[in-house]
Amino acid sequence: MWQRWLLCGGVVGAVYLALPSNNPWAWGLYNVFGFAAAVAIVVGVRRNRPRRAGPWYWFAAALALWAAGDVVYQVQYFVWDWQTFPAPADALYLLAYPMFATGAFQLIKGRISGRDRAGLLDAAIVSTSLSLLCWSFLMRPIAADESLSVIERLASLAYPAGDLLLLIMVVRLITTPGARTASYRLVIAALAAELVSDIGYAVVNLFATYSDGILDAGWIGMYLLFGAAALNPSMRALSEIAPDRAERFTTGRLTLLAVASLLAPLVLTVQGLTTPANIDWPAIALSSVVLFLLVLARMAGLISRVQDQAAQLRALAHNDALTGVPNRRAWDLELSREMAKAVRSGEPVVVALMDIDHFKRFNDAHGHPAGDRLLKEAAAAWRDQLRTADLLARYGGEEFGVVLVGQSLETAIAVLDRMRAVTPHGQSFSAGVALWDGREIPEQFVARADEALYRSKHAGRNRVTAAAPVATARAS
Ligand code: GH3
Ligand code: MG
Ligand code: MG
Repeated sequence: MWQRWLLCGGVVGAVYLALPSNNPWAWGLYNVFGFAAAVAIVVGVRRNRPRRAGPWYWFAAALALWAAGDVVYQVQYFVWDWQTFPAPADALYLLAYPMFATGAFQLIKGRISGRDRAGLLDAAIVSTSLSLLCWSFLMRPIAADESLSVIERLASLAYPAGDLLLLIMVVRLITTPGARTASYRLVIAALAAELVSDIGYAVVNLFATYSDGILDAGWIGMYLLFGAAALNPSMRALSEIAPDRAERFTTGRLTLLAVASLLAPLVLTVQGLTTPANIDWPAIALSSVVLFLLVLARMAGLISRVQDQAAQLRALAHNDALTGVPNRRAWDLELSREMAKAVRSGEPVVVALMDIDHFKRFNDAHGHPAGDRLLKEAAAAWRDQLRTADLLARYGGEEFGVVLVGQSLETAIAVLDRMRAVTPHGQSFSAGVALWDGREIPEQFVARADEALYRSKHAGRNRVTAAAPVATARAS
């Protein structure tokens, strides 16, 4: 349906553009596009049944208003031979801008769930730069034109202001999360076609009077693309909230923000080179201040996100998911660190390896989930028996490790006995404890504790065994 619409419209549009401009029949044909587009939108809404029809009806009304403006303009021009500005047609044209903006605003609102601070800031950054551009090159010359009456000046300023409003809406639409469907692209293309012709018209009129029909291609394109956007079945998803897409700061986004931020110094340079006596410093200064603040706010958002994620990542990499105590990786790191510190402080370092007794039997009797719960509860209960500075880590499976600094072997054994006593659900563990000799590497140190654990198991479990000092351990 929407392809046929575009094809037929494209053919009629080509015929219109081929006709000589200033021909009343051609102008009559031109009106067909606007009204047909408004009808196409209503048909599209009926067929595709979007959850929110509001934005589409705003667009249809705005298009119909523009088409009506064209009819009134033709009557003014051909029937009454009016050349005045502003005329009634201008009222219709100008009224359509806020209606388009309202439709676009509703569309944007539908696509955002909750807050979209980053997207809003990006849109504000780009909009600030575009406002400066629009003011400097389109509006300022009009505002300063002494040959125009006040009312002429105001009406002439209203057009670029309306375009700026639409431009801001397009930018915001582009920075929303939401689905990038065919209909979405068609709406953006329609608004872009409109803006190109409108801005082209304004630029041409700054230097000469527009008479050529070439810019009509953009307005016809706008009408056709709007109709196609509404007829396309993907229009239903256009004003729907996006499925949570991971927000990524893409190169495209960075480039857009870089270009936007550089526009203010660029405008200053252009004015400095062309009209050094007439530099618009208030507008450039104001937009630069706003831009800096917006970029800072965006930067603050990104930094705080990165910091949050770094903290999350650290916790994930450091802690065991089931019990919440540090994992094997953290154990390796911490043990080496404590040993290095002890070299300087001269404090004793003790490690203990613990292994729950008959844990397989517990799993078999109560099920794996109950085994998981035991691991969790046991880790919490043991942790309670330790000082904050002591390390309890999950070494692997149902094996845990403890590092105690500044405590004698005897105290360490007493601590382990206390931990054994609080093991939940009537379970127990066996442990091996070793005192560091100050020279062995972590692997040798832990191996001695492991060997003592092995002896605990062999001696009947549910006990703590001290490792033999290094020399004896080697001899055995
Ligand atoms: P022993 O007294 O000799 O240590 O006997 P055991 O049954 O505890 O020793 P074994 O090493 O044979 O079995 C350990 C069991 O721990 C086997 C495995 O299924 C279980 N296990 C390891 N990790 C987990 C876990 O994360 N959750 C649960 N529920 N069980 C685990
Ligand atoms: Mg084991
Ligand atoms: Mg075991």
